[in-house]
Amino acid sequence: MTKATNITWHETTITKEERRAQNGHGSCALWFTGLSGSGKSTIANAVSKELYRLGINEYVLDGDNVRHGLNKDLGFSEKDRKENIRRIGEVAKLFVDSGKIITTAFISPFISDREQVRTIFEEGEFVEVFVDCPLEICEHRDPKQLYAKARLGEIKNFTGIDSPYEPPSRPEIVIHTDKQTVEGAVDLIINYLREQNII
Ligand code: ADP
Repeated sequence: MTKATNITWHETTITKEERRAQNGHGSCALWFTGLSGSGKSTIANAVSKELYRLGINEYVLDGDNVRHGLNKDLGFSEKDRKENIRRIGEVAKLFVDSGKIITTAFISPFISDREQVRTIFEEGEFVEVFVDCPLEICEHRDPKQLYAKARLGEIKNFTGIDSPYEPPSRPEIVIHTDKQTVEGAVDLIINYLREQNII
């Protein structure tokens, strides 16, 4: 709910469609979701590199960076995690309005939070990318040693260990990082964007 009163939404004089036309491509949010260590960050950055190479206006919002700034007042309670995702969703929407392809790489474990974010976008703008990988493999990779800490009880409410991950039921794109290479995943996403006439 909006707390402030007497505020109105200002339509910008340049529309989203005009910005897209100037860029020569569409805009959308590539919303990555998956367990820690599944490969969200790795693939998001590889996609970003390829889009940049193709001359497409893009940007990546990645886990820890957002918590250093925008969301530094938030912790990992249920309420704060929800708010973390809500704010990232709102930021992603601004990027889409600005005509860019925005990639977000957050665990975002709860269906209700992701579905809430989906509702703020227009049809086709929210592209859910499920980075699917068995927990055992993510835990074996443990790139940031977070699973090890969670198993020792040094991190509480860690997704996959003592907090649930709710997989999407109808994601636009699924990537199996236990079977697919990073390059294969990038191709899949770029092809999707082409098929949808976003790029
Ligand atoms: P997340 O952002 O989901 O927490 P990261 O991208 O930080 O995950 O870590 C994933 C780890 O798995 C990296 O060390 C990456 O090199 C490794 N990895 C191995 N195979 C793949 C693959 N096919 N796709 C993505 N990452 C992979």
